[in-house]
Amino acid sequence: MYYLTGNSPIRSFFENFLQLLFPMGTYCICCGKYVDLSRTYCLCDQCVRAINWGRIHIDLEEERKEAGRTRYLDSALSCMVYGLHSARLVFDLKYNKKTFMARPISMIMADRLLTDESLEDMLCSVDFSVPVPLHHQKRKTRGFNQAELIAKDLTSRLNSAGLPRERKIRLMPDCLLRSKNTAAQRSVSGEERFANLEGAFAFNEKYSGLIKGSSVLLIDDIFTTGSTADWCARLLKANGAREVHFICLTTGNDFARGAFRERDDETFLREL
Ligand SMILES: [Zn+2]
Repeated sequence: MYYLTGNSPIRSFFENFLQLLFPMGTYCICCGKYVDLSRTYCLCDQCVRAINWGRIHIDLEEERKEAGRTRYLDSALSCMVYGLHSARLVFDLKYNKKTFMARPISMIMADRLLTDESLEDMLCSVDFSVPVPLHHQKRKTRGFNQAELIAKDLTSRLNSAGLPRERKIRLMPDCLLRSKNTAAQRSVSGEERFANLEGAFAFNEKYSGLIKGSSVLLIDDIFTTGSTADWCARLLKANGAREVHFICLTTGNDFARGAFRERDDETFLREL
């Protein structure tokens, strides 16, 4: 697998340097149990087995029918089905301020993208990576936008993966802005959620010339009903983006296809 992000010498140097600054590998990032440095994604055996991994393609067509509205995303991918363990990963990053978690999470996402041959054309055509934005008040309270941390690391991994592409993917962390601080909408339907997000996002005008005709990779930690991601895609397309693809760590989506039930199928994992 020449795409695996650990293969390039520059990447190895970078990883080693990061390892010195932010040591990973002492404790499992999910349950806190002691693990050694050789562990894949810094997860213990038990957590690796408990996670419902998959080369997940979210079925946007089915979602569109269900929600009864237009879909703006061109594709949506995930690495695992939402469960106790994936929830813990996301929760620790977001609410326990464990920002170092962005690194193993983006490593998982990079492997998901780079070991799926059906995604090669899409990956080679991506011009920009854009994180799903967080409202500035939330960002101030939290201290960071988790999607941005993941996007930063993931973009650098994709750029050093040796893909046959003409230019590097450019990260545009402030391309989208969250202009309205909406409350969590767990109790409402997908359609209502989408309607409630009207005016919640804004496009940063400084990118308006740049984005025309481009292909964008939109990045977030989680996909639930997809309303947020779809609003982002709608804005990007309204401002000239040609295609918008989405990747996240986990989805609880009913239309997630490709979850692996058999351990033998977990081919996008590195050697365990
Ligand atoms: Zn564990």
